[in-house]
Amino acid sequence: MSPITQTQLQQPALKSGDAMTSPGSLDGKTITGGHKSPADSILFTAVRPDLVMERGEGMYLWDTAGNRYLDFTGGWAVNSLGHSPAALQEALARQASLLVHASPAFYNKPMLEFAKLLTDISCFDKVFFTSTGAEANESAVKLARKYGALHKNGAYEIITVTNGFHGRTLAMMSATGKPQWQTLFEPKVPGFKHVPLNDIDALFAAVSDNTCAIMLELVQGEGGVHAANESYLYAIRKMCDIYDIMLIVDEVQTGLGRTGAMFAYEHYGIEPDIMTLGKGVGGGFPLAAMLAKEKLDLFEAGDQGGTYTGQPLGMAAGLAVVQEIMKRDLAQNAAVQGQYLLDGLQKLASKHNLSNIRGKGLLVAFDLPYHYGSELVAACREAGLLVNSPQPGTIRLMPPLIVQQSDIDDMLRLLDQALSQFAG
Ligand SMILES: *Cc1c(COP(=O)(O)O)cnc(C)c1O
Repeated sequence: MSPITQTQLQQPALKSGDAMTSPGSLDGKTITGGHKSPADSILFTAVRPDLVMERGEGMYLWDTAGNRYLDFTGGWAVNSLGHSPAALQEALARQASLLVHASPAFYNKPMLEFAKLLTDISCFDKVFFTSTGAEANESAVKLARKYGALHKNGAYEIITVTNGFHGRTLAMMSATGKPQWQTLFEPKVPGFKHVPLNDIDALFAAVSDNTCAIMLELVQGEGGVHAANESYLYAIRKMCDIYDIMLIVDEVQTGLGRTGAMFAYEHYGIEPDIMTLGKGVGGGFPLAAMLAKEKLDLFEAGDQGGTYTGQPLGMAAGLAVVQEIMKRDLAQNAAVQGQYLLDGLQKLASKHNLSNIRGKGLLVAFDLPYHYGSELVAACREAGLLVNSPQPGTIRLMPPLIVQQSDIDDMLRLLDQALSQFAG
């Protein structure tokens, strides 16, 4: 670095009409006249189609041109009750008229009610609320490291699974065993080891005195819908018991009915020590949570927090969404419709060379004969159907939990047509 001089840092004298005396000025920018795209002011982070979403209802979205889309991405496994459901509208309106935000320094009524509900319907005793899944996972990692500091001689290492996904904060990019992220934004947060899914020997080899937790998704979502085996998870639970290691399950995508059970861990007959929720828990309102067993009630004041933790609007939204999932038994609907969806895809398989049709409940995927995932997503969208391609040769479906057979029939018809464009 070359040295800088004092004069370089000196503020020039202000003239009248300068930015500081007229806050509305363009601050030296020139108006170029006419935007190239309606999104010129959006920082690029994702390839998005040139359309603007305006309205949603049930299984459908509409863009500003009036085109209708059948949504089998469910807002990325978020809109569990479909788009703009009455229960969520009412809860938000009611709470907004009563109290939008008090401060993280106070309890509020929906916060207490919602935490009680989540602990009643799960194997956990304590809840910490956040706004995003990544933050919930950060909280889980902090809590496991706190446990390590207090009870395991400072053990801090967390073992995670290759091709998993835990979010985009720096620590969660470290936790996420995504090969493409290995060299991004270095230096990342140390203390994470990655092992392949369903390989108990690799996991056993990675465990040491320094391990405080094992963290994984029970069905990898972004990784392309790959489930942990029952025997694998059973062995992990046993290993964690023997070595006093915390088992963290990331149910940000699989939680609250998505896999055909309220929580994916129920399929395995084991109890984790920590679970994170996100996505579907707010039904579209930004909301996430970390749940933990009683023995992990270890944070001291200030160890963890957040301006919006337990924020009343979010709490009212989450409460309404989870109550509605229970009242309408949407976990059961996910199990039934998920099977119908798998059967339907199976019928298209030989015609279009689809393989590895897989999934649990309404988290479903299949592989294409070659890597035309993004082209197929675009073709489906043109035809009025939203699907997702998490990997170049894989299509993933995660519709709202309210999906019915008729919606699946419509989806299969549109998918069949779109796939036909790629024949040969
Ligand atoms: C989406 C997702 C996250 C990250 O959630 P954000 O709300 O985007 O931070 C973490 N874990 C899993 C399994 C996810 O699917």
